[in-house]
Amino acid sequence: MKGGKLLIFSAPSGSGKTTIVRHLLEQEELNLAFSVSATSRPKRGDEKQGEHYYFMSTSEFKKHIKNNDFLEWEEVYRDNFYGTLKSEVERLWSKGKNVIFDIDVAGGLRIKRKYPDVTLAVFVKPPSVDELKIRLKKRSTESDDKINMRIAKASVELATAPQFDKIIKNYELETALKEAYNLVADFIGLDKE
Ligand code: 5GP
Repeated sequence: MKGGKLLIFSAPSGSGKTTIVRHLLEQEELNLAFSVSATSRPKRGDEKQGEHYYFMSTSEFKKHIKNNDFLEWEEVYRDNFYGTLKSEVERLWSKGKNVIFDIDVAGGLRIKRKYPDVTLAVFVKPPSVDELKIRLKKRSTESDDKINMRIAKASVELATAPQFDKIIKNYELETALKEAYNLVADFIGLDKE
């Protein structure tokens, strides 16, 4: 068990990155642990405190910003803050884990800049913006307004793909899962151990 690496999966909302991250977490030999982000957005569906997110009020979130507790944070959507607590990465590294992130593009690139040598930043690309719209509607956990907000942000995010170490095209899920596995296994040096 080596650990100490950071695996970032960033993509527009609805690209399927969460499915990819969950799949990777199930592969024990990768020795991954999920970085639970803090957020001020309300809980959705059956999300659990401390498992999907550390849910907190906006004022609590702002207190953490002031205390410099975040490795990175973003106001991803208006009044919806998201961030990675330094304590979260330290907690998982102290367990000897590789840390995997499901975070937005700006946050992902910020972490990459802070820890360039131990980070693999992967961009998950959806087939098209139209397909994204269909996927988000199918998920139907949010209002049309919120969905449109996510679509608008997606177009901006797609332009940042070249700044990532690797791009996975999520056109066909099985292929994307295999590709993601191979990238991570290679980066953490699984074959060489
Ligand atoms: P959702 O509300 O769908 O859970 O997440 C919305 C967006 O916020 C997604 O793109 C997600 O990856 C991103 N996000 C989640 N946690 C963090 C974080 O800690 N930092 C940043 N910058 N973005 C995050």
